[in-house]
Amino acid sequence: MTIVEGSRVGIVGGSIAGCAAAIALARAGCDVTVYERSASELRDRGFGVAIPVPLREELVAAGYVDADMPVHSCVERICYVRDPTEPSGQREICHHSFQAALNNWGVLWRTLRERVPDRVYRDSSAVADIVDDTDGVTVVSDAGRERYDIVVGADGYRAMTRARVDPSTTPTFADYVLWRGTYPESLLDGGTPPELERGLVWIGLPRGHGVCYLIPDPAPGRRRVNWGVYGKVPWGDRFDAPTSLPPGGVGDDLFDELVRGMDDFPPYWAEVVRRTPRPAVSVQPVYDSTISSYVAGNVLVIGDAATITRPHTGAGATKALQDALALEHACRRSETWQQALAAYDQARRPVGNDLVALGRRLGRAQVERPPTWARMTPEVFREWMYAGTFTIAPYEP
Ligand SMILES: Cc1cc2nc3c(=O)[nH]c(=O)nc-3n(C[C@H](O)[C@H](O)[C@H](O)COP(=O)(O)OP(=O)(O)OC[C@H]3O[C@@H](n4cnc5c(N)ncnc54)[C@H](O)[C@@H]3O)c2cc1C
Repeated sequence: MTIVEGSRVGIVGGSIAGCAAAIALARAGCDVTVYERSASELRDRGFGVAIPVPLREELVAAGYVDADMPVHSCVERICYVRDPTEPSGQREICHHSFQAALNNWGVLWRTLRERVPDRVYRDSSAVADIVDDTDGVTVVSDAGRERYDIVVGADGYRAMTRARVDPSTTPTFADYVLWRGTYPESLLDGGTPPELERGLVWIGLPRGHGVCYLIPDPAPGRRRVNWGVYGKVPWGDRFDAPTSLPPGGVGDDLFDELVRGMDDFPPYWAEVVRRTPRPAVSVQPVYDSTISSYVAGNVLVIGDAATITRPHTGAGATKALQDALALEHACRRSETWQQALAAYDQARRPVGNDLVALGRRLGRAQVERPPTWARMTPEVFREWMYAGTFTIAPYEP
C-alpha cells in the first residue's frame, strides 16, 4: 500500500494528459475524478501524433494502451526540395533512419479514454477555479464545489492551472503558424508513394518546411494522409493567444496563404496538400512556454498545461504520456504526497524545459532562419542536421 492510496485527486482536463494522469493515479491507488470542458464527441477530430517506439512499448507493457492499437510504423525520413531541373520536380537532400510509431490523435485518445471509467470522467464539465489551502484543494465547476487532496492540471496550452503553479510564465508566440490537414489515403492520386509506406517525408521551403506521413484511420485497416506546413503569415499579430483554428474554422486569407505557398513545394507534394478537403484544414499558431516548477502546494501540472513545446519536436503527446508514467512512478516510490510531488517535479521539469529549448532551435533552424535548402547536398544537410540543432541540450533561461 502506498501513501497516496485512497487519496482523492481531481484532474482538470480529459484529453491525452488528463486521461493518462487518471490511468497513472488510479494504478497508484487514488480515487480520481476527471473534469473535461468539452463533450466527448468533439474528440474525433485530430491529426497525426508521433510517439517514439520505446515509449509505445513501455505504454503497452504498463497497460496504458493496447498492443493492437493501430499505428503506422515509420522507419526512415526522406527530405526533398523543389528542383525544376529534375524530371520529378524534386531533389532528395537527405535520407536517414527515423523510427517512430505514427498515431492518429483520435485513436490514441479513445484508447486512453476507454481505460478511464465513465463514472469518474465528467465531460461537458468546465472548471472555473481551484482554491488550494494547506489541507487540500477545492475545485469549483458547473457541478459545484468539490474537495480533493491533490489537483492535477491537465488543461492544455491555455491552462488556468499553469498560472497557479507559476504565475510568472506566459506562452510566447513564435511568429509563425502550422497548417495541418488529413484525408483518407484512397484520395491520393495514383496510389500511395513508397516514401509514405516507409515513413516520413520532409520538405524544405524558403520560409519554413513541410512534413507528410500516414496515420491509421479510426476505421480498422484504413489509413489517412497527414501533413503539416510551417510558415509565416503577414498578419501574425492577429494570433494573440495559443488557440488553434479547428478544421472548418480556417478563414479564406489563411487558406489562400497556404495555397500560395504551394508554389515552393515539389509538384507531387503540392498536389498532396491541395487534395485536402478545405474543411479538413486547421491552423495552429506556434507558441511555447517554459515553467519554473511543475508543482505548487497540492497542485501539479502535466502535458501542455506544464510546458508548451513547438510541434517540430513531435513531443506534445509524448511528453504528456511520459509525465503520466513519471507521476505513477513517483507516487509508488514515495512515502508522502510531498515526496511524490517533489520527485515528479524533479523528474519532469528539466525534460519539459529542455524540449521547449529544442523546439526553439528547430524553429529557428527550419522556419525563422532556414538555410537555402535548394543549395544543400546530402553531405551538407547531414552536417547541418547534426550541428547541434536536432539534439536535446539543457535549457538555459
Ligand atoms: C481535440 C484536440 C485535438 C488535438 N489534435 C492534435 C493532433 O492531431 N496532433 C497533435 O500533435 N496534437 C493535438 N492536440 C494537442 C495535443 O493533445 C497536445 O499537444 C498533447 O497531447 C498534450 O495534451 P494535453 O492533454 O496536455 O492538452 P490538450 O490536448 O490541449 O487537452 C487539454 C484539455 O483540457 C480541457 N480543458 C481546458 N480547460 C478546462 C477547464 N477549465 N475545465 C475542464 N477542462 C478543461 C480541454 O477541453 C482539453 O480537452 C489536440 C488537442 C485537442 C484538445
